[in-house]
Amino acid sequence: MRNTQGIPEGEYICSTCKQSKDSKEFHWYEQTIDGRGRGGNGKRKRVNGSCRECRNKLARETAKLKKEIKPIIPQPQYGDLCESCNRPVYANQSDIPKGVDGTYSWMFDHNHETVEFRGWICNPCNTGFGLLGDNAESVKLRLQYLIDSENGKTKSQMLLEQKKGPF
Ligand SMILES: [Zn+2]
Ligand SMILES: [Zn+2]
Repeated sequence: MRNTQGIPEGEYICSTCKQSKDSKEFHWYEQTIDGRGRGGNGKRKRVNGSCRECRNKLARETAKLKKEIKPIIPQPQYGDLCESCNRPVYANQSDIPKGVDGTYSWMFDHNHETVEFRGWICNPCNTGFGLLGDNAESVKLRLQYLIDSENGKTKSQMLLEQKKGPF
């Protein structure tokens, strides 16, 4: 039996098919109603914006893509470089030799919307892209913040400069 406790009533628009569907058709973090889980506010959070039907379709397409690509571009060897951060990739974090700027775990990276293969990258890069929005435009936005910070030009840095005043 699926745990539906804490899933709010109502409908949501699926971000993939744009149809309005019952909230139970979406994927929710397994958070307990008493708030001992993720988030801690007693409510469950949606994992992503796609409905069950779209998620299943995407999963099938992704499995097909992997089957097509892997015989042509197989997973690189351990010690080969991540296509994103150019660091050697090892099986696990604990396998990275001492003194080596390495990373771990090969990931089959693909565009989740278009279901196209992108490359073989390490787990931290994959997780990072996911958190940063998973597309160049979205990562650029965050990159600009870092560039600004190196020039003392973030909103807060400029405000601080202004508040300190000319001494
Ligand atoms: Zn959908
Ligand atoms: Zn990497």
